[in-house]
Amino acid sequence: TNFDELSNLDKKHIIHPVAVPKVHASVGPKIIFSEGKGVYVKDVHNRSYIDGVSMLWNVNVGHGRKELADVAHEQMMKMAYSSTFYGYGNEPAIRLAEKIASITPGDLNTIFYTSGGSESNDTAFKLSRFYWEQKGFKNKRKIISLRRGYHGVTVSAQRATGIDAFRNFSGSSDPDILNAKAHLTECELGDKSHPEFSGCIRSIIESEGAEHVAAVILEPIQGAGGVHLPPEGYLKAVRKLCDEFNILLIADEVICGFGRTGELFGVNNWEVVPDLMSIAKGITSGYSHLGGVVMNNRVADVIKEYDDVLPHGFTYSGHPTACAVGLKNIEIIENERLVENAHQMGAELEKGFNYLNEKHEIFTNQRNVGLLAGFDLMKDPDHNIPFEQSKQAAVSVVDECYKRGLLIRCFDFEPGMNIIAVAPPLTITKQEIEKTISILDDALASFSQKL
Ligand code: PLP
Repeated sequence: TNFDELSNLDKKHIIHPVAVPKVHASVGPKIIFSEGKGVYVKDVHNRSYIDGVSMLWNVNVGHGRKELADVAHEQMMKMAYSSTFYGYGNEPAIRLAEKIASITPGDLNTIFYTSGGSESNDTAFKLSRFYWEQKGFKNKRKIISLRRGYHGVTVSAQRATGIDAFRNFSGSSDPDILNAKAHLTECELGDKSHPEFSGCIRSIIESEGAEHVAAVILEPIQGAGGVHLPPEGYLKAVRKLCDEFNILLIADEVICGFGRTGELFGVNNWEVVPDLMSIAKGITSGYSHLGGVVMNNRVADVIKEYDDVLPHGFTYSGHPTACAVGLKNIEIIENERLVENAHQMGAELEKGFNYLNEKHEIFTNQRNVGLLAGFDLMKDPDHNIPFEQSKQAAVSVVDECYKRGLLIRCFDFEPGMNIIAVAPPLTITKQEIEKTISILDDALASFSQKL
């Protein structure tokens, strides 16, 4: 293979995101991918793996889709790129906007295109602040986000992210972003005597004054913070809170959107309609880079009244090739009933987790909504005793899975945290779920044996 040559060049010329630069510069890439088909990917050694987290939770329709390659080819031959600045338009961007309006809940009808999730969230913050400014509330600027929320790495999205390493990297600042200390706790349901009340959204609104708060942002189910589900009634309560204090609600659907949770959008699981919705990832299943902020009529109508140039936009806002791919991707999700499949296969995954829970002492706190799933590893779950940091439990199990041909991901950014996520492509079959569970079974056994 040409692994050695590529590895040397990679070490020399690339700084990788979310990797340890010093280790990378000496050891080089862990895997160099060469191809993918369905839920499987291959590396340049011709080793095959199940893509257990759909790469970055985004390859919803699976790898190797000729239809998507064809539509990109066709659009590129016609006109690969045109701008949407200055009121210029293109058919794929227009058709996709109509499609998104028709599938998003409530009156979310208008989109501002971006090229990814971070840009979408920064855009959602700017448009929320602009909305209030246009309404005459210049001081309504603060954005409230949650602990363990992940919203991306552009400056404002970074500051909204509730994972310290990301939030604090390079000392970036946006003083109008307030990261709540509470984490999806029931205090949001209105109980002021709740022990975490002082760190929750309601208490921040009360102490800042609603006249200073523009919006609340949250993921319907937190992904990169470790797959955390909200307590029963939580999203509805936050929606009510926003209405009570006249604050906009932004749902970050970058992971949950486009079928991942067994519903087309994460908020659909709780019948909540946000004012703005950030989307990216699953909109193209990663076949092209695209994102957007979808807004309801209340927000769009105010922006549409603005009688000067809107000084915001990205070169790739409404990229025609990306939009053509997005449109075809949604067609695949609909025609192949992948949302239903995510729901059904989510149930199969849950059965597999039940089995692992029975069999392995250290496997605990399993959770899933459709194919967004996770579990914890603990030294002694019955007595709530975590592994010592030195054990690197989750890292080791992920490595055992890797050796057996399954790529999954872990989270250990807080002391005692050992979370593993599973989020395969929505095309996954029962057999492929069984294989995933069987590899996890062996990996957990092998790790436990070494304890
Ligand atoms: N929001 C959520 C919920 C995400 O999971 C991510 C990426 O993982 C982002 C935003 C950032 O998206 P991007 O990496 O496309 O900028």
